Amino acid sequence: MNNQYKRILLKLSGESLMGEKQYGIDEKRIAEYATQIKEIADMGIEIGIVIGGGNIFRGLSGTSKGVDRVKGDQMGMLATVINSLALSSALEKIGQKAQVFTAINMFPIGEYYSKWRAIEAMQNGTVAIISGGTGNPFFTTDTGSALRGIEIEAEVMLKGTRVDGIYTADPEKDPTAKKFDKISYDEIYTRGLKVMDLTATTLCKENHLPIIVFDMDTVGNLKKVLSGENIGTLVY
Ligand code: UDP
Repeated sequence: MNNQYKRILLKLSGESLMGEKQYGIDEKRIAEYATQIKEIADMGIEIGIVIGGGNIFRGLSGTSKGVDRVKGDQMGMLATVINSLALSSALEKIGQKAQVFTAINMFPIGEYYSKWRAIEAMQNGTVAIISGGTGNPFFTTDTGSALRGIEIEAEVMLKGTRVDGIYTADPEKDPTAKKFDKISYDEIYTRGLKVMDLTATTLCKENHLPIIVFDMDTVGNLKKVLSGENIGTLVY
């Protein structure tokens, strides 16, 4: 197999972890993710992962329930740690080494993140799950993912979603929406597309980190993307 990439950053949304559920973590979905991740680890690809927390808590939505925004964001960041622990456990269960890093020091739940330790883990065949977002309120895990992807010198950021790429409009609402095979960062701005928040898109643009948006919920797609199959949308 001719691997296009040696090191990647995979972004998974917290919401996808819910599977068919309304809240929390679906065991079937997380097991499927783990299997797909092991499959590409077995191809020799070095893998860093950032997971969102929206299946448990989002800071912004907490404000309508009376939660202070900064504390709400801290709750959201902790939610990403919970998801990361769950994914590491699912990976270990199928024989894939994984290590959780945390943006804020909370040893022994995870190791305090540093670029060098995360790279060392990946070079040893361990999946580095980098949790806690950026460690700061008012950011998202998309931005955390862009930041970590750049830091660990990933060649690409794979954004796994439930949609199979970027469309001219939301395909779940507009049946005439058309999919892009590729699109430039600038076109995302000019068309006002909601692919990721602008902070994340700008970080990727300024640091030349390409993004591939693809449907991670279809089993086997992660391997297909990394084998160079033309699924999803490339942002360059
Ligand atoms: N969050 C934060 N700083 C970060 C990353 C995340 O404060 O650097 C908080 C924020 O409250 C966010 C929540 O964590 O709503 C969950 O992250 P996100 O919404 O990105 O998760 P997803 O929607 O991908 O599940």
